[in-house]
Order: sequence, then structure tokens, then C-alpha cells
Amino acid sequence: MSELLERERATLAERTRASERMFRRAERSLAGGVASSYQRLEPWPVYLTRGEGARVWDVDGNEYLDFHNGFSAMVQGHAHPAITAAVTARQRLGTHFGLPTEEAVDVAENLSFRFGFPRWRFTNSGTESVMDAIRVARAHTGRDEVVKIAGAYHGHADVTMVSVGSEPGAWGAGIPESTVAQVRAVPFNDADAMATTLAEAPPACVIMEAARTNAGLVLPEPGYLEAVRDATRATGTVLIFDEVKTGLTIAAGGAVERFGVRPDMVTLAKSLGGGLPTGAIGMTEELAALVEDGSVHHVGTYNGNPLGMAAARANLLEVLTPEAYEHLERLGERMAVGVGPGAIALGSKGCVHRDRRDPERSELIWTWLANRGILTTPGREQEWNVTVAHDEAAVDRYVEVFGELASEL
Ligand code: PMP
Repeated sequence: MSELLERERATLAERTRASERMFRRAERSLAGGVASSYQRLEPWPVYLTRGEGARVWDVDGNEYLDFHNGFSAMVQGHAHPAITAAVTARQRLGTHFGLPTEEAVDVAENLSFRFGFPRWRFTNSGTESVMDAIRVARAHTGRDEVVKIAGAYHGHADVTMVSVGSEPGAWGAGIPESTVAQVRAVPFNDADAMATTLAEAPPACVIMEAARTNAGLVLPEPGYLEAVRDATRATGTVLIFDEVKTGLTIAAGGAVERFGVRPDMVTLAKSLGGGLPTGAIGMTEELAALVEDGSVHHVGTYNGNPLGMAAARANLLEVLTPEAYEHLERLGERMAVGVGPGAIALGSKGCVHRDRRDPERSELIWTWLANRGILTTPGREQEWNVTVAHDEAAVDRYVEVFGELASEL
């Protein structure tokens, strides 16, 4: 395997010389040559120029079928005509006022319909949505502590960076000890651990994904979410489902619809904005009252930005239709069946599970696919995301190239 990886690395380097040049230039002004450390790749990042539908192109002119989709944010596919038209029209009318526009009302109404939450607020990212939702929960309960799932990622705010990854301290430098002390982590799919932890000392909230992503894809076991709901209710704990990844991608109404368990709040981002930075928080009337009466400051210059909201409105009303969800479901199934044992799909997303301690294998798969024109999310899990713009041929190509690697190995 090491030999094969060496060969594939060399091929990748050869295919991405313009990216290498861009990286050498970039690292002189951009820390690490990238805008976010998650964009860093070895030996250098692949710099892209454009995307259309299911495809993207890099600075070397290589074409890729895109299963990365901007860390799963682009469930619409790239440069979707409806979203492009909406953004262009709004751009001509002014893109930012710091006063509300009708787009924000339309988006809130549509999200209420999809998720069944009566009140919404907007943010600019998943991190902001989660950070602000936790603040509302803290205000509501008068408690500081946050319970999360061990290792889970909920964005880069201090409090949610605690217990990211499996190693203690994997969350890196700069997180205050006092913040670390406010977070307790429990394993996913362990209803007893959750109930015990909450009963010992009820926290402000439980922040969790209803189905775990960012660590492969782990579905909730039957009864688990119901048990978490009971335990949170019994202890007066606010239950927040982080739907930054699952919202709008695994069903029209995200995990709330798919699994039928209703939290007190949901957080959205990624697929909401059709490629523009937007996020949202859905709340019960009781929790929203804290925002409405001014007890909790939920603020932000760009919250509900008209450009992002115009994109979100077109996305929700014109792109992510019932037919779109049928399409995503069908393609996801086709991927899982094609890739074979160890593959799991949930709506538009899926992955191949394997041993998390095997980074060499993960790098080999990523590099092998990239060298054959298939872009996936880098990381230890071979995560894929299909979009409205993908078709069966795109899925079959992934399956074919993946199969070739299996034979080679
Ligand atoms: N929550 C989850 C579950 C996520 O996967 C992410 C991003 N990968 C975030 C929150 C943070 O979102 P953002 O990167 O937009 O801040």
C-alpha cells in the first residue's frame, strides 16, 4: 500500500504543478497558503477556478466530478441557474443594508414549514448558529454547562471545540481552561450515559447531531433519540440538534423530519445558502421570547444579508423540491450499493467506514480518486456528497474508480 501511495502522490504532484506554484505564492501572504486550515492538503492544496453542476476545475485545468461539494454545502451543485439568477438580481438592488428585507421573511416562513419551528434567526455560518443557540439555552436555564457527544464537531467557537476528535487536547491551543471545564462529553448512541450525565448535574443544553457526521456517518439506534429527548425534558435541559450538515440534505425538514424526534432548537448553515455564507437557528416560541424581549442579544452585521437570503430563498423554493429529495435519495442508495460493504448513505451524503487509525489508506483513496478526476472530502472517512446536479453516470464513475483501487490493492 505504501508503494501505491508513493506512486499516486507523485502523480498528483505532477498533475497539480500550477496549484504548487499558487501555493508557493499564497504562503507568503496567506497563513499556510489557505483561508481555513481545513483547506490544507498535502503536499499543497488544490486551488480551484470554477464549478458548474457536478463538476469543478482546478488551476491546472484538471476537471473533477465533485463529491466534496464545499464540505457538503453545495447540495444544489455549482452555479445553479436559479440561484445565480436570484443572486444577480439582488446584487443589482444592493447587497447589504443592516435592515431587514423581504427575502429573510420568505426564508423564515419556508424553514418554519419544513422544520416545524415557529421562530427563526439568521447567522453567517454553522459556528455562529451553534454558538448563539447555546447562548439562548444558557439564558433560558440559567446554567453554564454544555453536554455534547464525545469527539463531535460543531464549529470553531471555544465551547464547541472542546472534545473535538478522539484525543484529549485535540482541539488545539487557545481554548481557556475555564471553557473546557464547562463541557462534558458522552458517547453517541448511549442513552444510559446521557441520562446519567444529565441527572448528575443538569446542564444548559445538549448539543448533538441526530445522526453523527464528521466521523463517518453513524445513525441513531432505535429509541436513542427518544431517550435523549426524555432525559433532556426530565432535567429541564434544552435539546439542540445541530443540523448544519443534516438539515436540508437528508430530507426537506432534515433530521427532525427523518427521525421524528423534536428538539427545542435546530441549527442550520451549509446547504441553506446555496454557496453563500448563511446560517439559521430554529426555536420554540418560549426560547425565541428571550431574543424577542431583548434578554439575549442575538446580533450580527451580516445576519439575514440580502444576498445570502436571496440565494437561500431560491434554493428553498426552486431547487430543493420534493423531486430533488427523491433524486438525492436514489443517487445516495446507488452509491452505497455500488461501493459495497462498509458503505452507508443518508440522503445526499454517505461514506465508507474504515479504521480511523489508518490515515495512509485514507490518503491513498483520496489521492487515487483525485488522480482520476474525482474530488472527495479529505479526511479519514471517505465521505461523499451527491447533489441535485449529479446523475447516475457520475455515481457510476465514482463506483468504477473506487472499484479499480480495490482491485489494485
Ligand atoms: N456543525 C457541524 C455538524 C458541522 O459539520 C460544521 C462544519 N463542518 C459546523 C457546525 C460549523 O459550520 P461552519 O464551518 O459553517 O462554521
